[in-house]
Amino acid sequence: MATLRDVIENLHTIYGRRNATYMPDRNHRAIFLGDAVRHLGKLIERKRGKALAHVRASIFARTCAFAEGFVDLSIMRSLSEKYPEKYCAYCKSKPCYRETNRLR
Ligand SMILES: [Zn+2]
Repeated sequence: MATLRDVIENLHTIYGRRNATYMPDRNHRAIFLGDAVRHLGKLIERKRGKALAHVRASIFARTCAFAEGFVDLSIMRSLSEKYPEKYCAYCKSKPCYRETNRLR
């Protein structure tokens, strides 16, 4: 099984040039990502479960493309900072004991 870093590097190898050509700025990449998120919402509304896996994968790939639109913004570093390996970033416990999700 490939590591997350392997997957991200593979996505860059396959789609990096296309993304740089057709989505030269962050706004294009944000729209590209937003389209996939909206598509996921429609599939959930229509209860189209089979297609969800593909759209979730697209959202991840497009998130990586969006992150590449920034100079020196590593998705791996961002994930590590936002979600530390040893504990929850909010309550400092492992596992998390918070009852609600936070969007920050
Ligand atoms: Zn927590």
